[in-house]
Amino acid sequence: SVKGKTAVITGSNSGIGLGIAQELARAGVNVVLNSFTDSDEDHALAAEIAKEHGVTARYIKADMSDAEQCRNLIEQAGTCDILINNAGIQHVAPIDEFPTEKWNAIIAINMTSAFHTTAAALPKMRAAGWGRVINIASAHGLTASPYKSAYVAAKHGVVGMTKVVALETAQEPITANAICPGYVLTPLVEAQIPDTMKKYDMDRDEVIKKVMLERQPSKEFATVEQLGGTALFLCSDAAAQITGTTISVDGGWTAL
Ligand code: NAD
Repeated sequence: SVKGKTAVITGSNSGIGLGIAQELARAGVNVVLNSFTDSDEDHALAAEIAKEHGVTARYIKADMSDAEQCRNLIEQAGTCDILINNAGIQHVAPIDEFPTEKWNAIIAINMTSAFHTTAAALPKMRAAGWGRVINIASAHGLTASPYKSAYVAAKHGVVGMTKVVALETAQEPITANAICPGYVLTPLVEAQIPDTMKKYDMDRDEVIKKVMLERQPSKEFATVEQLGGTALFLCSDAAAQITGTTISVDGGWTAL
C-alpha cells in the first residue's frame, strides 16, 4: 500500500499538480507541494491537505527552470518515494516567431527539470527499496498541434526520457511512466471560458464542446481527480510491471 510513502509533486500549488497531491493524500501519502513562489497561500494549501487527510504535507519553494533548485527540492524533501514531475508552462506562436527565451523556459521547466529531479530522486528510491517516477506529459507528448513547437518538443522529450528511466530501473522495484492528459478542466482553463463565450457569441456548453474540446472526441474535460486516480493506480501493486509506457487520459484524442 502507498500509505505512509512520501510524494514530491513539482508545480503543485494549482491545477493538476494540486489535484494529484490531494488524491495521493486521500490515500495516506505524505506530500511535498512545490512552485516557484513562497506565499502564505502556498503554505496554507499544504496545511489544509495535512488537516483534511491526516498526512504530513509541506510546501517547498523551488524554481523548476533552475537545475540546482530542482535538485535541492528533492534533497530538502528528505524522503522521495514517489516523484511526480508536473510543473509546466505553455507559449503559443509560429516557430519562425517563437521567442528564444520562451523556448528555453519551456524546455527547462517542462522537460529538463524532470531530468534533474529524477537524477536526485532515484538514489533515494533505491535506498528505500521502492519507487515511482510519474511524469505528467500530455497528448502533445504523442501528437502535435501547430504553434506549440517548444511544448510539443518538451513533452515528446519527457516521454522519451521516461522510457530510458524505466530501462535503467527495470530490474529494481521502481517504475517510470508518463501520464498523457488531453484537455483538463483546471482553474486556468475555466478562466478562459467567459472570454471565449464573448469572442464567438456562444454559450458555455458550445464553447466547451465546439472550441475547447474540438479534438477531444469524448467532448468532456478530464478532471484533476481522474489524473490523481491514474497516478494512484501507477503507485499500486497492480501497476508494478507497468513501466516505460504512457497512459492517455484524453477522452480519445490520440485515437483520432
Ligand atoms: P497550472 O498552470 O495550473 O499548473 C502549473 C503548475 O506549475 C503551477 O503550480 C505553477 O505554479 C507551476 N510552475 C510553473 N512554472 C514553474 C517553475 N518555474 N517552477 C516551479 N513550478 C512552476 O496548469 P496545469 O494545467 O495544472 O498543468 C500541469 C501540468 O499538466 C503541466 O505540465 C501541463 O503541461 C500538463 N498538462 C495540462 C493539460 C491541461 O489541459 N490543463 C493538458 C495536458 C498536460
